[in-house]
Amino acid sequence: MLLRHTTEKEIDRKALTINPVKTCQPIGAMYAALGVHRCLPHSHGSQGCCSYHRSMLTRHFKEPILSSTSSFSEGASVFGGSSNLISAIDTIFTVYDPDVIAVHTTCLSETIGDDMAQIISKAKEEEKIPKNKTVIYCNTPSYIGTHITGYSNQLSAFVNFFSISTPKKRNVVNLVAGWMEPSDMREIKRISRIMEARTILFPDMSDVLDTPLNGKFEMYPSGGATIQEITAIGDSKFTIGLGAYSTENACVKLENKCKVRFEIVEIPIGLKATDRFVISLSRHANVPIPDILTEERGRLVDLIADNSKYFYKKRVALFGDPDTLIPLIEFLLTLDMKPVYVVTGTAGNHFNRSMQELLSEKVSEAKYKSGECADMFQLHQWIKQKSVDLLIGNTYGKYIARDENIPFVRFGFPVTDRPGNNYFPHVGYVGASNLVIKILEKILDHKDRTCHESKVEFQM
Ligand code: SF4
Repeated sequence: MLLRHTTEKEIDRKALTINPVKTCQPIGAMYAALGVHRCLPHSHGSQGCCSYHRSMLTRHFKEPILSSTSSFSEGASVFGGSSNLISAIDTIFTVYDPDVIAVHTTCLSETIGDDMAQIISKAKEEEKIPKNKTVIYCNTPSYIGTHITGYSNQLSAFVNFFSISTPKKRNVVNLVAGWMEPSDMREIKRISRIMEARTILFPDMSDVLDTPLNGKFEMYPSGGATIQEITAIGDSKFTIGLGAYSTENACVKLENKCKVRFEIVEIPIGLKATDRFVISLSRHANVPIPDILTEERGRLVDLIADNSKYFYKKRVALFGDPDTLIPLIEFLLTLDMKPVYVVTGTAGNHFNRSMQELLSEKVSEAKYKSGECADMFQLHQWIKQKSVDLLIGNTYGKYIARDENIPFVRFGFPVTDRPGNNYFPHVGYVGASNLVIKILEKILDHKDRTCHESKVEFQM
């Protein structure tokens, strides 16, 4: 019993969160910045913050995460980190030669009140920023928001600093990627390619955090949206944001700045969310839906139909980020499963509204909670009160799964104890098929392992 102190009985807690379903804002900013070609994320704070953020990303992606830090000492903590950042900018451009330094703040620099715009303009005045190079920033105090807020703030900063509207409009659709895996971004690009839609995907972590091992170290891998592409999004004819929490602010900023209209759809996880994405892309890029996608959809429907008996009425508990939970829960309902408990550490009305719409009729006993007080301790308490057939979430869920002997599907960020999560897409019809197989394997393995031996079947 790893979590032996979790009790079935709930008591009202207002000032205590146990095992929160979220992490630091700067982790999101760092991850988003890695999706821009030749961009180096820079953490304006202590070395400890930067090391933690890098190690979380490294553990998940199994790749070295490159990021620099202002390396605050006692002096900077008291008097501000201006001189640290200016000398960091000088050193970074001299030694590491990125095209862009994307600075994000931390709790410490925000508490001191460092004025980022003023520090960066001072660095410019002192000629520490070479011609054709850029330093941008976003504010990511971790005592508010979550890693998703940080991701969203970093995307808004890219739009703010780079997008330009010129009289020359282009027949291109911007795809603003919510927090998803590099494999998902690769799949989004594949779908766009086979639809022959002209798109700009940003950020794009494929070929950055899933590069092949070729024996050569590349400080800046070939992937990532280029600065030219992000500049050009201001001339595109439409923007599709994938995931409201991660992308809506950036889409609004682009519309206000460059008059590019937008639509927010869910990250295309599952059948219906993928349908909506494909239809939206087809409409706005003015391209037909090709047979190859219809066939992929048909194979997914066949897979679901063949295995529906294993999904029917299975009770599922989930935790994670709202942009992935909302379409995932919709997909579980498509599979005739019952998402009974859902928690996310990222607050927001959209999540609560979506849960209400999705669950109130179909799963009347469902409990869900979002925000700071929504934690895994409470999720575990709900499971203790009435158990579930499946748990879905990041690696932190393994302790609950083990204690309660529940099949566990690893999904979300971070997954630190199993490889492959960032290799097989979960978006699109192909990704949904991967997800169905992943869920089925866990449920059937558990059945084989725990059922009475007279019930062990060769053919299932
Ligand atoms: S001090 Fe703030 S930014 Fe740094 S690791 Fe802690 S919560 Fe994150």
